[in-house]
Amino acid sequence: MSDAAPHTAGGAHTADGAADGGQALVREARALDEADALAPVRDRFALTDGTAYLDGNSLGALPLPVRDRLAHVVAHEWGELRIRSWSESGWWEAPERIGDRIAPLIGAAPGQTVVGDSTSVNVFKATVGALRIAAADDPARTELLVDAATFPTDGYIAESAARMTGCAVRPVPAAELPGAVGPGTAAVLVNHVDYRTGELNDLPALTAAARAAGARTVWDLCHSAGALPVGLDEHGVDFAVGCTYKFLNGGPGAPAFLYLRRDLQPRFDSPLPGWNSHADPFAMASGYTPAEGALRGRVGTPDILSMAALEEALTVWEEVTVDAVRAKSLALTDFFLRCVRAYAGERTAVRVTPLTPGEHARRGSQVSLLCDPVDAAGPVMEKLIARGVVGDFRRPGVLRFGFTPLYTAFRDAERAARVLGDVLA
Ligand SMILES: *Cc1c(COP(=O)(O)O)cnc(C)c1O
Repeated sequence: MSDAAPHTAGGAHTADGAADGGQALVREARALDEADALAPVRDRFALTDGTAYLDGNSLGALPLPVRDRLAHVVAHEWGELRIRSWSESGWWEAPERIGDRIAPLIGAAPGQTVVGDSTSVNVFKATVGALRIAAADDPARTELLVDAATFPTDGYIAESAARMTGCAVRPVPAAELPGAVGPGTAAVLVNHVDYRTGELNDLPALTAAARAAGARTVWDLCHSAGALPVGLDEHGVDFAVGCTYKFLNGGPGAPAFLYLRRDLQPRFDSPLPGWNSHADPFAMASGYTPAEGALRGRVGTPDILSMAALEEALTVWEEVTVDAVRAKSLALTDFFLRCVRAYAGERTAVRVTPLTPGEHARRGSQVSLLCDPVDAAGPVMEKLIARGVVGDFRRPGVLRFGFTPLYTAFRDAERAARVLGDVLA
């Protein structure tokens, strides 16, 4: 690997920390990796190809035990037991069982989280469910506030959900939401972490403001589940959804999760009442009677192969706490930002400015850098990837680097910043 050590000749780098060509940062990365209690967890992942993989906020790396689990499910549960596996291999209850494995990671007591469908579909269920409850309580509440910087799918679905329920969408910057909720607000749909900038929104404050105004909350945890503490029960969130293929490493297209707070479950009127959420699914009744509990969030037959991969991926959390992950995430992103300042400095041809807040309380588990000029970002990321530093790029000019503390090492952060500095120069 040509990028495994900094170029010491030439004195090209003169900013702080890189004054000696980066040797001090390399030494620091090594010391941080040696002191890192989570370092051994990396061995559970398929990361042996020498790349610095900083795109786990888009697709988490493969946890190695998933391969054997899937082989077993295919060969034995499907291949030999066939239909018997719905009962004998626990297929039927997989959505609730796996939901309860995710629950502690998002601060939820058991019985409130169900796995299935995509995040997009769960945003629809949760948002319509929230709007229906709000309308039942007070028909004058007809406004759906949506985080103005939301991930597009949430915004599109919010529009449709509002149209279906006679509400209107109003986009509001997340920081201004507490001041925007009022007596006309039915529900608020917010991303916990901004996918472009990596900014962490204030879930406790925003949820409290919405509650005080009598509005329902729907939180999208795609970029926080598995990356930082969420505290759904503690903060009184009504509904939440999230991805499992990002920081939870469930695999491409892994089923999403839906959190229905326990006391709201009897009132959750799903807009997608499939037979899997019927109180007696095998009665094959012509009329719908919803089941009790989180399984009310189910729709149709669960995708068992993806569920199995996700369930196996989640076993890593038997040994790791979210608090430890958060502490390492902040240390990694702090260190990366420092390395970027040292290597990219002010003098490179293409300049980068962090969009991710420096303040810990406002930072997710990624670092986004805005390129100047903006149209350099695409080619810069292509060059990084060609040199084994994998992040991604969001138009018009944002380089995104995701940090997954389960497998990202401090040496990855140092190397990524160093290669970036070279490419920008
Ligand atoms: C990744 C992401 C999604 C993805 O939704 P899918 O239905 O899985 O495609 C939705 N919302 C947010 C905030 C995301 O970051």
